[in-house]
Amino acid sequence: MSGLQPVRGTHDLLPDDMRRHRHVIETARRAALCFGYQEVATPIFEFTEVFKRTLGDTSDVVTKEMYTFTDKGGETVTLRPENTASVARALISGGLNQHLPLKYFYAGPMFRYERPQKGRLRQFHQTGVELLGVREPGGDVEVIAAGVEFLRRLGAWDRCVLELNTLGDTASRQAYRQVLVAYLNDHRGRLSKDSLERLEKNPLRVLDSKDESDQKIVANAPLSSEYLTPEARDFFAAVRDGLETLGISYQINQRLVRGLDYYSHTCFEITCAELGAQKTVLAGGRYDGLVAMMGGPETPGVGWASGVERCAMLLGETPPAPRPVAIVPMGANAERKAAAIAADLRRQDFVVDLGFSGNMGKRMKRANKIAAVAAIILGDEELARGEAALKLLDSGEQKNVRLGDLAAALAPYR
Ligand code: ATP
Ligand code: MG
Repeated sequence: MSGLQPVRGTHDLLPDDMRRHRHVIETARRAALCFGYQEVATPIFEFTEVFKRTLGDTSDVVTKEMYTFTDKGGETVTLRPENTASVARALISGGLNQHLPLKYFYAGPMFRYERPQKGRLRQFHQTGVELLGVREPGGDVEVIAAGVEFLRRLGAWDRCVLELNTLGDTASRQAYRQVLVAYLNDHRGRLSKDSLERLEKNPLRVLDSKDESDQKIVANAPLSSEYLTPEARDFFAAVRDGLETLGISYQINQRLVRGLDYYSHTCFEITCAELGAQKTVLAGGRYDGLVAMMGGPETPGVGWASGVERCAMLLGETPPAPRPVAIVPMGANAERKAAAIAADLRRQDFVVDLGFSGNMGKRMKRANKIAAVAAIILGDEELARGEAALKLLDSGEQKNVRLGDLAAALAPYR
């Protein structure tokens, strides 16, 4: 399909949708700001290597979902499927490791070639935070707390569940990997083709499989918690303790693994059951291996990303549009004056609607349609006295106001 249809899995944000979308992003930005995270933006495309190297050859994102193309200069570039790899790339290319710790917030579109369904798009949007250069469990706690505060401000947190798990450090993962491979090998016959491949390259990822037959085998797999080193155990205990101190409740989910190779220690997801199948609204974890894996200096990191479209579904009422003041001129002389009054009020930050044509009746109708808070009616007689009629559209109350006093008279309805 081409031409006048939007590409499958993409959508337009018309004003009502856009206000919901904007509200989600502003809420996340403000919450992150309160924790000292500053906004950054990376390009929406990168050299393909940035994602290929970090997300791993076996991840769904790399094998199936990337929008990759060759540009006119012959470079292979990819529309970003997520933002963490780009932030790590920015840290390396900008030499930012001189300035650790860094606390970054981002918001913007991401692209994945997936099967579109409710809550799953091909162009979607994420907000997210990244905390770089902090090795302590307090970093994990702060990052999770920022996500919780964001959802609390959205009015969604009391309908959400924070699921928490740890993958441990490298030694824990290696020990667990061995027993997991042994277990999965015993059940090879019932594993999906994808999982057989993962079993060779990155067996932990089998735990993340969405295939039903895989999931049945995974349900009885050994648990990673049994193979944590004492250090990894202590780290996780400190994270849990920090959350408890803040009164943030969570559920341990031992089956939770992040689909990406560079995670270690804490991983978490915040889900909201009312969203159905695509119920994860925020997900993240610690990625101490990422920057080094990309060829940069060893730099610990922890962060999350949250789907804006899924969060927007959790909002109750759509945030209202600002209510304008409508100017309704009657006659050619008033028309000219109307433009000057509109300009003056707009300079003072009033939202002003000035129609382009039509008689008074038509213009009043439009004023009501756009939910104007008031109409400034300009007739020749009033203008001659230096006045206008100010009509409050909710109550119908009308009075004459001197032109110089319009801003003051409108101030309560801004
Ligand atoms: P899923 O298991 O749903 O595929 P994921 O592990 O691919 O999720 P992440 O890469 O962790 O998701 O992305 C973080 C968040 O971004 C998700 O929890 C979700 O809210 C949102 N998200 C991810 N992919 C999409 C998509 N295709 N459409 C809409 N939102 C998405
Ligand atoms: Mg996915």
